Parts: sequence; C-alpha cells; structure tokens
Amino acid sequence: MGSTGSIGTQALKVIRKHRDLFSPVVLTAQNNARLLIEQAIEFGPEAVVIGNEDNYKIVKASLEKRGVKVFAGEDALNNIVAWQNLDMVLVALVGFAGLQPVINAIGAGCDIALANKESLVVAGQLVMELASKNKVKIIPVDSEHSAIFQCLVGEGLNPVEKIYLTASGGPFLGKDLKFLENVTKADALNHPNWEMGQKITIDSASLMNKGLEVIEAKWLFGLDPNQIDVIVHPQSIIHSLVQFKDGSIKAQMGLPDMRLPIQYALSYPQRIFSDFKRFSFLDFPELNFRKPDRDIFSNLALAFRAMEAGGNLPCVLNAANEVVVQAFLDEKLGFLQMPHIIEQCMENIGFILQPSLDELFKTNLHTQKYASKLIGRLTAR
Ligand code: NAD
Ligand code: MG
Repeated sequence: MGSTGSIGTQALKVIRKHRDLFSPVVLTAQNNARLLIEQAIEFGPEAVVIGNEDNYKIVKASLEKRGVKVFAGEDALNNIVAWQNLDMVLVALVGFAGLQPVINAIGAGCDIALANKESLVVAGQLVMELASKNKVKIIPVDSEHSAIFQCLVGEGLNPVEKIYLTASGGPFLGKDLKFLENVTKADALNHPNWEMGQKITIDSASLMNKGLEVIEAKWLFGLDPNQIDVIVHPQSIIHSLVQFKDGSIKAQMGLPDMRLPIQYALSYPQRIFSDFKRFSFLDFPELNFRKPDRDIFSNLALAFRAMEAGGNLPCVLNAANEVVVQAFLDEKLGFLQMPHIIEQCMENIGFILQPSLDELFKTNLHTQKYASKLIGRLTAR
C-alpha cells in the first residue's frame, strides 16, 4: 500500500531483485496514476487501487485490458487488504490514513510489514491487542524499529532493560531557536542522510519523527516510557540499540539505506542476499553521540508527554502534527509555530483514557479542525 511513495518504490526495487521470492498481488496509490500504471505494467499485480477517484478512468483504461482489476476510492483502499492470496501487506501509506488498512489487514489475518508509524502512534494499544488476538505478525520497517527487532531475534524472553533510538538530528542539528525561527521549507526538506517523503522529512527536521518513533517503539516492543531513550547520532550508522538486564548492549549497524529494513521485513526470519553498498569502518573513523535538545526541539518533549499520558493524547499529537506539517509545506506557518499549535491542541482537546477506535477517529477529526482554526487565526493577523 502506497507503492508510489518513497518506501513503496524502494520496496519494488527490492522485489525487482528477488522476483523468485516475492510478487506484488496488489498495488495502491493515492494520486500518482502514471507511476501506478507503470508499476502495474512491470509487476503484473492482480489488482490496483487508486485513492483519488478522479484518476479512476485513466488507470482503468490502461490496465483493465491487461487483466488487472482496477478499484478507486477510500473504501476500496481500506478493504483491499482482504484480497485473497495475500501473505503479507506492506503498509507504506503516510499518516492517519494507514490506520484502517492496518486494522483491516489484522482482521483478515494478513501479516504486516509496517512502515506507517502513525497507525501505532494513534492506536498502538488497540492494534497490538488485535494483532495478538488474531495471531498476526507486525514486522517493523522503520529503520530504528527494524534495528531493535533484529537485536531481539534469538533473545526469546530475555529481559530488555532499555532501548536507545538513534536520531540523525536532521538538517538543523545544533541550531538555536533564533536560527529556527527563519528556516524555510527548502531548508527543512534538505535532510543530510535520508531521502524520504515530504511529511517524514519535515518531521525529521522538527524531531517529531523521533517523537512518533518513541511511541511506535513503546507499542511494538511492549515497553514502559522510562525504558525508551533517544540519542543523537549524526552519521546514521547505528540504527538503534537494545540494552539487556545484564547490561550488555546490542546494536544494528549499516549504511543508511531503507531497502535493507524493507527487505528484512519481507524475508524475515530469513536473511537474503543484497548488493547494497557495504559499510567500511575507515570511511567512518568516528561515530558521534549527543543528547537531543528537548528545549529547542520541543516536539520531542511533547511526544514523550503524550506517550506518558496515553489515551487519545498521542492521537491528538499526531493529528495536530499532520495539519501543521501540511501548513508549513504550504508556507502558511513558520517552523517554530508548529510545536506551539500542537501543544495548544494537546491542552484543549478532550482527554479520553481508554478511547475506542471510533473515539480515535473522532479525536483525529476534531483535532484537525481545531488545529486548522488556530492556523487560520494566526494567518489572519
Ligand atoms: P510518501 O509520501 O513518499 O508516500 C506515501 C504513499 O502513500 C504514496 O504512495 C501515496 O500515494 C500514498 N498515500 C498518501 N496519502 C494517502 C492517503 N490519504 N490514502 C491512501 N494512500 C495515500 O511517504 P513515505 O516517505 O514513503 O512514507 C510512508 C510511511 O513510511 C510514513 O508513515 C513514514 O513515516 C514511514 N517511513 C518512511 C521512511 C522513508 O524513508 N521514506 C522511513 C521510515 C518510515
Ligand atoms: Mg525511522
């Protein structure tokens, strides 16, 4: 799901090298009809879904004659995970839109390779409980979580003391508030180590990405908030670490390349060949570490606060963040105005300690509206 995005296209690169092992049965995209058609012609899936119904006709005209079933719209996107013959669904949509497909995939008993962190941020408890009830595996694709997952392979029930999520620090590492006040969209999109979709690139610059990942890790690995720490590591070579009860630490390392965690999620528990560039110690004589600055990058503090409070607060954080990131990308909002609006949403949207799925959908909508209203007021000034 999301085959035309950054993760989606990299997954198809992995699959292209291993056609004997993997074949995409379904491909989905939101808007990019041209690329979806191209991908379907190359990989020959049984079905495709295009989210934006305006593009239905053109996708259908190109693919139906080739025997590919074509569907369109949000319901089709959410329900396609129940398609027969699926062993696994790679959820690489961006944002809250990933939640319903994840829930439906679990309902259909289909294992999940999960890139979409937002679904665990907003509904981690419900998703993990449902997955465990239906015996569905959720294999992380996010590089830090894949690293932790890889460190835990073979450890059985050995107790984890804590985990360290590494953060590159993004393009604004070491900058102060005065500098951040005037950064532009182009500055924020210029990530030093990773090439990714626009939303996650802005989240990386604001450290919200790390905040979301902290919450994602809590649910994936069943940890208490005080077992999760973040360490800035600008080279992005160590992808994350696990510290066990005996004090021993395991790290997973490699050059930053998302194809590796994607491939591992698809091939797990096996490791299969890749021709990705190998790490050389002499190219990196130094690996550095430092503490993240939660006063300057206050999104990280907000995410820890949301994780500790639990309930629907992470959903509020995520929804507000989606709105402010879009406004920043539309150049309607300054970089430092983003955390400010997220915080106001967290303080003003009604708290629910044990939200149902329905209440999470309502919280998402309600927060989006509230955040948009706050942005409207600011821009009207
Ligand atoms: P992207 O914007 O490049 O791609 C998103 C994909 O989802 C596209 O195929 C798009 O058509 C589809 N999509 C977008 N909105 C949709 C909607 N409302 N409904 C249905 N489909 C929709 O994003 P990306 O960078 O590939 O990120 C995807 C997910 O993976 C995000 O949750 C992100 O946090 C996570 N992730 C990405 C990376 C990375 O390197 N790009 C790394 C780790 C985690
Ligand atoms: Mg990550």
